Amino acid sequence: MTAPRIAIIGAGPSGLYLADALGRKLPAARIDILDRLPTPFGLVRGGVAPDHQGTKNIARQFERTLAKPGVGFHGNVEVGRDVSIDELRMAFDLIVVATGALEDRRLGIPGEDLPGVIGSGAFVSWYNGIPDGRDLTPPLDTTAVTILGNGNVALDIARLFAKSPAELASSDLCAHARMALAASAVRDIHVIGRRGPAQASFTSAELAEFGTLERAAPIVDAGDLPATLPAGLSDDAARVAEKNIGILREFAAANHADKPMRVHFLFNATPVAIQGGERVVAIEFESSGGHRFTLPTGLVVTAIGYRSRALAGLPFDPDRGRFPNQDGRIEPGVYACGWCRRGPQGVVPANRADALGVAELIAADLAAVPPPGAKPGMAAILPLLAARGVLRVDFAGWQKINAAETAAGAADGRPREKLVRVDELLRAAGCDGG
Ligand code: NAP
Repeated sequence: MTAPRIAIIGAGPSGLYLADALGRKLPAARIDILDRLPTPFGLVRGGVAPDHQGTKNIARQFERTLAKPGVGFHGNVEVGRDVSIDELRMAFDLIVVATGALEDRRLGIPGEDLPGVIGSGAFVSWYNGIPDGRDLTPPLDTTAVTILGNGNVALDIARLFAKSPAELASSDLCAHARMALAASAVRDIHVIGRRGPAQASFTSAELAEFGTLERAAPIVDAGDLPATLPAGLSDDAARVAEKNIGILREFAAANHADKPMRVHFLFNATPVAIQGGERVVAIEFESSGGHRFTLPTGLVVTAIGYRSRALAGLPFDPDRGRFPNQDGRIEPGVYACGWCRRGPQGVVPANRADALGVAELIAADLAAVPPPGAKPGMAAILPLLAARGVLRVDFAGWQKINAAETAAGAADGRPREKLVRVDELLRAAGCDGG
């Protein structure tokens, strides 16, 4: 078999776990990883909370994958804008889509598009320094913020509002978000689930952290907590639910009257309408008993899950918001891996199992139908990018960005101070011609 040329679209966890797995299975393969951003690591850089640095340690392993001789990184190259799927098809034996889930799911209720209603993807991009999110300017002049959803993303966002500047001092929260959050008027943070505490998808460690915060107290109504677990939960779900309800029970029993901020956990409340004129002023809920109530709020962040973004030239399932695939195969020679394959669920390392499975499938497919001849790979794409004026960041360019960011952070005792605009990143990478 000639050495296969493989393009992976997306340098996030799923793409990088896959590159590693393919490199081991097919040592002769040449793997080129394209990313729309000038920086690699996807969700690890742009999604994982800035105060959970331990979760970001996996970036070191990803860095080693990118440094391998058979692997190329091509940042600031957006498939669909700078190069088409058909052009990749002509240049590569195999394409793997590993683009994650970039779009916020929508609530589908009146008022959702009012100013001051923001999806978690946009909000997280803002505080994590993804260039698309830099100019968001969320209204933080309100005393009450409402976060919809009972998943870990909702907890990440609540925690960033709740933590004091001192608690965030060793995070890589971006400077613009640090300043805005430090100046915010927010005192009451409402985290609201449409189902009960037993159905919340919080992980227990993330929930328990709210009992340890310096200036914010978790507030729970003991009446919301079920005495027994509902029937029908899997063993794993029952274990997590039991632990979470125990934590919530401790929150309900504690007296934190001395703390100036509150994180209110509210359950069984389905949002039905968002009210406001020039911006959001309140949100209306229906409780599981059919009772309606209104909560005044100046900012709503929806943390209700994500969708993948379609790619011109590939089939897409708009209802499920992902690429239709059979165990990872979208069509002959084109595969999907990670959240864009199976939906936005699971922690970062869960993508490793996904990648191993897809690598297995790719190796079996290549063994059954070997590529007919040598394809040019990236050699055919680079001239197209150059002709289109695309400024490509390679691995060496990323290393320069990394060095600049870590040096800037070190001055302030932080792991890094991110560059948050594409032109700044390109300049640091040395690929803006300047
Ligand atoms: P998630 O765990 O799926 O939570 C989404 C939440 O939104 C659920 O509570 C869901 O309620 C709710 N929801 C959906 N549609 C809604 C609607 N129309 N109205 C009101 N609520 C609605 O997703 P996520 O929080 O986005 O997290 C994505 C994945 O990343 C998860 O697997 C998560 O564990 C992981 N993650 C992990 C960490 C960590 O380990 N520290 C941090 C962040 C994210 P229903 O259950 O009723 O559908």
